[in-house]
Amino acid sequence: MDQTSGIDYNWEDHALCRTLTKNQKKDFYPLKHDGEGKQQVNRARRLCSDCPVVVECLHASLVTNEKHGVWGMTSPKQRQQMRKQYTITNEDGKRVALYEDIEVVVEILADHITNMVEVGPGYYPVLLSNPNLRENRLHLHGPEKGGKKIIEN
Ligand code: SF4
Repeated sequence: MDQTSGIDYNWEDHALCRTLTKNQKKDFYPLKHDGEGKQQVNRARRLCSDCPVVVECLHASLVTNEKHGVWGMTSPKQRQQMRKQYTITNEDGKRVALYEDIEVVVEILADHITNMVEVGPGYYPVLLSNPNLRENRLHLHGPEKGGKKIIEN
């Protein structure tokens, strides 16, 4: 069937994490929230930054309110923040989840990447090595807008 929504419903077929080793996959679901757990989350994020379906993955995890694991370069706590931040009350008083629109997720991801610039040494160049992410970020924010904020796990 032809797609018009822009969403690739077969995105999981292209997920980078499907090709990882058992140990690499463990990084996506840390059992502890200590220093080692944070390192695992950051390792998982780095892998996500090379994934061709990172936007689709983040979109799916926001829409389904996925509460566990790293999805689309985000921890569960970050996704909760995003769901709050990108839900508005419209003129009719209805709650509207902006993240249901995958084009908005592109913006959310670009902001997220900008915010993570200072998470760890060498992290920024790693993130920008994915051409899709780089183009989205530059398109939305311009090259002059460097990241200053840090989002904790
Ligand atoms: S973005 Fe990360 S969690 Fe999502 S499919 Fe890609 S590698 Fe897996």
